[in-house]
Amino acid sequence: MTRYLRPDSPEYEAVRRPAMPQYGEVRPAVIAQCETPADVAEVLAEARKEGLPVVPRSGGHCFAGRSSTTGVVLDVSPMSSVEVSDDVAVVGAGTRLSRLYDALDAVGVTIPAGCGPTVGIAGLTLGGGIGVLGRSHGLTCDSLLAAEVVLADGRIVTCSAEQDSDLFWALRGAGGGQFGVVTRLWFSTLPTPVATRFHLTWSRADAVGVIDSWQHWAPYAWDELSASLRVTATEIHLFGLTTGEFSAPMEVSPTFAVVEQLPYRRLKESLVGLGDDPDAGESMAVSKSEFFAGPLPVAVIEELLRDAPGDVNFTPMGGAYNRVPATATAFAHRDTAFLLELVGTDRAKLAQVFSPLEPYGTGRVYTNFPDPTLDDALTAYHGENLGRLREVKRAYDPEGFFTFPQSL
Ligand SMILES: Cc1cc2nc3c(=O)[nH]c(=O)nc-3n(C[C@H](O)[C@H](O)[C@H](O)COP(=O)(O)OP(=O)(O)OC[C@H]3O[C@@H](n4cnc5c(N)ncnc54)[C@H](O)[C@@H]3O)c2cc1C
Repeated sequence: MTRYLRPDSPEYEAVRRPAMPQYGEVRPAVIAQCETPADVAEVLAEARKEGLPVVPRSGGHCFAGRSSTTGVVLDVSPMSSVEVSDDVAVVGAGTRLSRLYDALDAVGVTIPAGCGPTVGIAGLTLGGGIGVLGRSHGLTCDSLLAAEVVLADGRIVTCSAEQDSDLFWALRGAGGGQFGVVTRLWFSTLPTPVATRFHLTWSRADAVGVIDSWQHWAPYAWDELSASLRVTATEIHLFGLTTGEFSAPMEVSPTFAVVEQLPYRRLKESLVGLGDDPDAGESMAVSKSEFFAGPLPVAVIEELLRDAPGDVNFTPMGGAYNRVPATATAFAHRDTAFLLELVGTDRAKLAQVFSPLEPYGTGRVYTNFPDPTLDDALTAYHGENLGRLREVKRAYDPEGFFTFPQSL
């Protein structure tokens, strides 16, 4: 049954706010908390009758506020469930990552996915899903076997490689909220790995050398190594996991180093928020990011470090991410070495600091890190898959019921 929360409902204030505080003032006309696909179909029909826009919300972490609206927030969080059998996990679209990992860990399996414990599995998967097992096992969406979707006209379809295969292709990487409301996801699971966690830090004064060593090493290392780099105002953090022996080819010795084998679930939890400033309040941060296909010149790194207004995050790609052809799923970024993300509070400042990097970037942007300032956003997000995505959109949402700035 759907639970409707309106501005006069006691829970409305708390529930309407997404995880990103900068969208906390958007006031939906109604929040519809749906328990079943039939509930979703009913809400879509009602909204259509009333002429109200609908946005689905899973974990509410969209960087561009796309799961907030003054119309109807269709909240799938009541559909939070995980069932595992025969190497397949059936996951309700409202499940948050921490609950998912706990449920999978209890039966000795996992899936490759991100770190944020309250991130929603639906939003993460529909945009791709980068995580510490990604270089060895691919994106979260590469493990997707099927998805149940309620379309704009109320039809409920279960798409897979065999059934509604175009829709299934598009759901793997085009980004959430484009084709319908996903209510259930089927994933192939992996046995929980035995893994070693590492966390090394250096003083920020060593940043140029550390970044330069990292960019020639981490994206090209053996697949079972995932080493991310975070440069804060005072330190550099190198962290991640490996299922083999750990060694890092940095020329400068770290000021701190922990290398330890941990049960996988604890390991994953230990990577959350590494390098966060414990005194920072609620973050109104915005970010700008791009995929890079090869190393940056040292002079460009120096300029970046001089001007960066906040953290600089480097995420290694390569490995299994790149073994899937760019057109095999809607996720088009299969030839990249790393993702670079600049964090700040002022979008204009970020654009200015980012511009010297652009000649070295691929011009491609991760759909799960949406950037409202992009000039040609659809090419940046979808690359060569854009034409086919437009066809799928026409076939499954011909009236453009699901729409937002930068949507298909
Ligand atoms: C703290 C934090 C940590 C992160 N860590 C990672 C990481 O490790 N790896 C990574 O790849 N990304 C990461 N991200 C980015 C994350 O993948 C995106 O923000 C993602 O879109 C969030 O999904 P959500 O369901 O939480 O957000 P939402 O805001 O609920 O949804 C995101 C988009 O998907 C749509 N959507 C939501 N539910 C559905 C549904 N059921 N059906 C159809 N469309 C839907 C929404 O309308 C919106 O457009 C992180 C983000 C944050 C804020």
